[in-house]
Amino acid sequence: MPSTPPSVTPPVTPPAPWQDTPPVSARVIDAITRIGTVMRAGVWQAAAAEHLPPAQADILDLLAARPEGVRLSWLAEQLSVSAASASDSVSSLVGKGLVVKVKAPDDGRAVALRLTPAGRKVHRKLSQALSFGEDAVARLPAADQAALFEHLLGLIRHLQHTEHFPTLRSCTSCQHFRPGKGNKPHRCQLVDAPLPTAWIRLDCPEHLGTEVTPP
Ligand code: SF4
Repeated sequence: MPSTPPSVTPPVTPPAPWQDTPPVSARVIDAITRIGTVMRAGVWQAAAAEHLPPAQADILDLLAARPEGVRLSWLAEQLSVSAASASDSVSSLVGKGLVVKVKAPDDGRAVALRLTPAGRKVHRKLSQALSFGEDAVARLPAADQAALFEHLLGLIRHLQHTEHFPTLRSCTSCQHFRPGKGNKPHRCQLVDAPLPTAWIRLDCPEHLGTEVTPP
């Protein structure tokens, strides 16, 4: 009678420590969120030193790039808050002498909001609080900076299609923008000149709005 071979217990493979790693897409968002949190904490710290709550610091930042003035409704949209909430923050900034209400240049009956010279000074101080982030990016090779910027623009474009991102005055949503093909660079038709990726603007005063190009 043939002998029965001894039973062999299959080896147990321990789970790889990276088995539960979230997908790259989730980790990209995690990385962006962490960077955003650190940057915002830096600004908020500087804002607190100026006795400004975060929302008011954000308003100064939005107004700084728009010397022509903006409407309250636009501010509320950019901050993703209600008009009433934006109005409270603006009233406080007006009371502190950092923002002024003027007649809108395109409609004498409407009100536009602008920074006062004091508001501009405070905004400069808050901007300096972000310089450590800019310095870190500047240490990356120039090609990596350009590639990173291009990928972030692409991500913003996708987010705009989900309506989870406020309108930006960026080249990719501008009627003057002509996307490049192959070796041909993008162009800005307004100045009729090439627009390398590294020069694409995120907040251009000459931006001419249009529908976002489908990704
Ligand atoms: S006008 Fe400004 S936003 Fe429009 S394509 Fe030219 S640089 Fe970009």
